[in-house]
Amino acid sequence: MTDPATLAERVREGDLRLHELEDHADHDTAVAARRLLVEESTDADLDTVGQYAFDAEVADSAIENMIGAAQIPMGIVGPVTVNGGAADGEYHLPLATTEGALLASVNRGLSVIESSGGADARVTKNGMTRAPVFRVSGVVEAAETVEWVREHTDRLREAAESTTSHGELLDVTPYVVGDSVYLRFRYDTKDAMGMNMATIATGEACDVVETETPASLVALSGNLCSDKKPAAVNAVEGRGRSVTADVVIPGDVVEARLHTTPGAIAEANTRKNLIGSAKAGSLGFNAHAANVVAAAFLATGQDAAQVVEGANTITTVEERDGDLYASVSLASLELGTVGGGTKLPTQSEALDVLGLRGGGDPAGSNADALAEIIATGALAGELSLLAALASRHLSSAHEELGR
Ligand code: NAP
Repeated sequence: MTDPATLAERVREGDLRLHELEDHADHDTAVAARRLLVEESTDADLDTVGQYAFDAEVADSAIENMIGAAQIPMGIVGPVTVNGGAADGEYHLPLATTEGALLASVNRGLSVIESSGGADARVTKNGMTRAPVFRVSGVVEAAETVEWVREHTDRLREAAESTTSHGELLDVTPYVVGDSVYLRFRYDTKDAMGMNMATIATGEACDVVETETPASLVALSGNLCSDKKPAAVNAVEGRGRSVTADVVIPGDVVEARLHTTPGAIAEANTRKNLIGSAKAGSLGFNAHAANVVAAAFLATGQDAAQVVEGANTITTVEERDGDLYASVSLASLELGTVGGGTKLPTQSEALDVLGLRGGGDPAGSNADALAEIIATGALAGELSLLAALASRHLSSAHEELGR
């Protein structure tokens, strides 16, 4: 039975490398040995980092060179009623963040939405994309490749879907730039965020393209996908779930609970979220949708880097006969309830709070419901912040709660 100190000694002696420890001891011992080595070489005290509450082996597919866990406070907002295409009922949304005042603000927005009968929400488009880039000799071969792909999508579908029992190839969109051909494959990945699934399936389809056309694969991802980078293609075409949530709030509720008027909130939205964002050249026309997306992603085990795409959100607000209509449309919300970080114990428990752990029935419905609930949370965050700006008490709220 190896103990952490003995294992650490073997690293010091050059017998083992830091990433090999799990091959010579159980995972928790390997993690403790690595922590010892980091502590002695940096003078850092990692007691708290080492106090994680799950079996390190469970995290094996989520991280390498593990030394412990970064613990982020998790809270809860709601309940809020979501009248969705998949979500249906009252939900508490778990959020993990270090930004003081965020949950208080979102909770205020949700409570106003609840007083108005809840939010309506729908996923209007769904598709995870992977876009490999191929080399051709020039435009003649590029056109030949594009024509073949257009006429043989069924062959590509057969190859791609042979790698997955859940994924379905929806379409393949070709783009040509000189002697480069990009094929944007789009999949229904059901309850999985789908980036691994789409990548593996696309790799199989690329073999067929290379066999049947003059094109040679240069890279399985050609950045027209586009993953974890600000990109107009995602804001326009969508990626993952495109989801909208909206609500009509009676004028008297706006005045009593948000201490401002529908007109003032609508003006703040137009001048800030629409005109200000346009002037800034932003892809996101919202106040802080990424705040709710990031906190919900951390709580429920999503890929945190995809908050970039989650920020592709447009918020609209208008006064309707004295009441307030507000909506958020998140063009590219990439998430899942199976696979990736959703399998980790803390994150699975957070999904349990929503009743959305694992695959849905029908497949895809749990991820749709999660998208609709997060969109409702984002709507609440927009309403609360816009109201705070319109009533001019944003800085006092941050002083009270966040400092
Ligand atoms: P995954 O954990 O690789 O795959 C999801 C698995 O769940 C599939 O094997 C699927 O099986 C199975 N599954 C069971 N029930 C399902 C259901 N109801 N709906 C859908 N699938 C179901 O996860 P992923 O979502 O494809 O990829 C997410 C991971 O990719 C994250 O860890 C993320 O960090 C990482 N990532 C990868 C890349 C990349 O380029 N590879 C890029 C960004 C992020 P079948 O396929 O057999 O049906």
